[in-house]
Amino acid sequence: MEEKKKLLEELEKQCSSCSRCGLCRGRHNVVFGVGNPEAEVMFIGEGPGEQEDLKGEPFVGKAGILLDKMLTAIDLDRNKNIYIANIVKCRPPQNRDPEPGEQDICIAWLRRQFAVVRPKIIVCLGRIAAARIIKPDIRIKREHGTVIKKGGVLMMPVLHPAALLRNPSDKPGAFQDFLDLQKLIRENCEHTYDGIPQYD
Ligand code: SF4
Repeated sequence: MEEKKKLLEELEKQCSSCSRCGLCRGRHNVVFGVGNPEAEVMFIGEGPGEQEDLKGEPFVGKAGILLDKMLTAIDLDRNKNIYIANIVKCRPPQNRDPEPGEQDICIAWLRRQFAVVRPKIIVCLGRIAAARIIKPDIRIKREHGTVIKKGGVLMMPVLHPAALLRNPSDKPGAFQDFLDLQKLIRENCEHTYDGIPQYD
């Protein structure tokens, strides 16, 4: 636990002064990630929005509140038993999608986070993250909730919570995905629901 925590803290420190791509110019904060370094489940979004940029934490705006509610419903908690990060760590201007070139550069940080946490399950929040992590031609409206195994890691794309705020009629399907995720965790994870080591 201490080892992983220290490694993530060191990575975050390095990342906080990153200027490898142009997104560094408009940021207030680098949004590195949040969660338990021992997490077996990692959630990955596309990039910070306005609130995330101001606070330096992923998924803290309206979409983040919805995400937290959905997580709570299946006994997950960003401060206890999961880890959350984004493909790019700095806010794209006007909340545009991160460009492929920006993703190509920034994903090196995510790879290093992944190498430390070593999750068993990755949940991709929305099309951009799913296209980058799972497969480039993913049809998120059709394929959300499906599970594939890649590089020994189980991966599930889900609808982005911001998309659910825009299209509330998609919420029941998205919630079913979370129930399926809960089952997947119970079947494949050792301590997410049972005695995950806590950190301060
Ligand atoms: S988005 Fe990523 S690569 Fe670009 S400056 Fe921020 S941390 Fe560095």
